[in-house]
Amino acid sequence: MFLLNKKKKTSGDKHIDQLANIVGPNEILYKKEDLLSYDCDGFVIEKALPKAVVFPKNTEEVASLVKYCSANQLPFLARGAGTGLSGGAIPLNEEVIISLVKMKKLISVDYENRQAVVQPGFVNLKLTNSISDKGYYYAPDPSSQYVCTIGGNVAENAGGAHCLKYGVTTNHILGLEVVLPNGEIIEISENGVPDSPGYDLLGLLTGSEGTLGIVTKITVRILKNPQGKQTVLAYFDDIEDGSHAVSDIVSAGIVPAALEMMDKVAIEGVEAGSFPVGHPKDIEALLLIEVDGISAGIEEQIDEILKVCHKRNVREVKVAQSEEERGAWWANRKTGFGAMGAISPDYLVQDGVIPRSTLPKVLSNISEISQEYGLRIANIFHAGDGNLHPLILFDARVPGETEKALKAGTACLKACADVGGSITGEHGVGIEKKEEMRFIFSDEELDAQTQIREVFNPENLLNQGKLFPTPSRCMDVKKIVKDTVAH
Ligand SMILES: Cc1cc2nc3c(=O)[nH]c(=O)nc-3n(C[C@H](O)[C@H](O)[C@H](O)COP(=O)(O)OP(=O)(O)OC[C@H]3O[C@@H](n4cnc5c(N)ncnc54)[C@H](O)[C@@H]3O)c2cc1C
Repeated sequence: MFLLNKKKKTSGDKHIDQLANIVGPNEILYKKEDLLSYDCDGFVIEKALPKAVVFPKNTEEVASLVKYCSANQLPFLARGAGTGLSGGAIPLNEEVIISLVKMKKLISVDYENRQAVVQPGFVNLKLTNSISDKGYYYAPDPSSQYVCTIGGNVAENAGGAHCLKYGVTTNHILGLEVVLPNGEIIEISENGVPDSPGYDLLGLLTGSEGTLGIVTKITVRILKNPQGKQTVLAYFDDIEDGSHAVSDIVSAGIVPAALEMMDKVAIEGVEAGSFPVGHPKDIEALLLIEVDGISAGIEEQIDEILKVCHKRNVREVKVAQSEEERGAWWANRKTGFGAMGAISPDYLVQDGVIPRSTLPKVLSNISEISQEYGLRIANIFHAGDGNLHPLILFDARVPGETEKALKAGTACLKACADVGGSITGEHGVGIEKKEEMRFIFSDEELDAQTQIREVFNPENLLNQGKLFPTPSRCMDVKKIVKDTVAH
């Protein structure tokens, strides 16, 4: 990796030298060529170089780094795997990036009390892999779970395909160790006691997008594997029929573990990607539905789902016949975002949430937005909980097309807000959607939230310019939002 000029043992920058003293000379990057990989996260539209990237190995080092930055007025931010899709880890203000990837231990597992303690850089899927031989798993399963960290999941309150029945990250967090922006270390925990007195700091920290503190240890709930599981794939000729089937399944009293949808453009993408499974290309929509729980009840639920699909004119519906088949369907779905690269040079993923019953209307609005902006939009999303992911396909090499994609994205979020929905379900606000916060919050409500940030982060050195509306440094997002709404 590194680094400091061996002869002089100094970088020529006093802050870099002091930060290197804290973590060790092999745990810091500061040369431009090394910093390039850290100029953005999964939101690749805005880019900026950090001052340095440091790799602490324990909480004490994180606290010392934070104290140093705070004492020297150096802006800083935390980074996990950098898969965030809203720009939360982009160093817009030449931040010192505190990368948690070297704090990646599974500290302990307590099967009796069904909990595990991990360091923040522990990769999501590794937790399930580490406990599956004992019949346990960790429920929140973002599609990026092969690489994203549990620290990043806490910061974004990550969701996933199987969060419909089991809840998103916040429902699985039992305790956090956090380094506050002044370098103090605090522990917040339920201590095994539900509804403990005082403010719900666990709830506040989870989903705060790295603006209130740096999470250095996490206690999570682990679950026993369900006794049985069945997966259904349903193909529809009419997207409205598929959308109505989603509401009908839930209205029938079934809570599937997962209820995912893809439209025609998304199917074209996943079939051109690395995990094709032979979905027909002429269908308008598919549903991937999974039920799990006590084996005895599963057949009954599957029968009910098949009935709903037939009532909604399904073209073909099938139940997975083996674990391999089920695995292939899920690999096809979970690699869906990346697969868009097979049909478009660039894509922008949006993350609106809507009441389930408005799905047909909002999908039709998105189709109108696609026509209006002349850009194809693929929809691949967690339909069961109304969490839409319109993927706007564009070519950044064509002048003006990036801005058009951003406008189309804003218009999709406005369509979600207009039916009583929200602008993010799981990817966070970051820098990408901070102006769109105005679609769902009044000035007073935004003030109340920024005041909370000021209590934790009074000097605003930690992850500046994220989450709440402010003028953007790199592009006039505010203007884009204004123009789009006026349009
Ligand atoms: C292909 C793909 C599919 C995805 N699918 C999903 C999905 O299904 N569901 C979903 O919810 N998301 C999904 N995401 C988004 C992303 O993976 C999640 O937001 C994830 O939680 C980010 O984790 P990370 O480790 O990459 O965090 P990063 O991107 O490194 O950071 C994200 C934010 O968290 C903050 N942060 C990171 N670590 C800490 C810490 N220890 N303490 C405090 N703040 C911290 C950062 O400052 C930043 O603001 C997907 C992304 C991709 C690229």
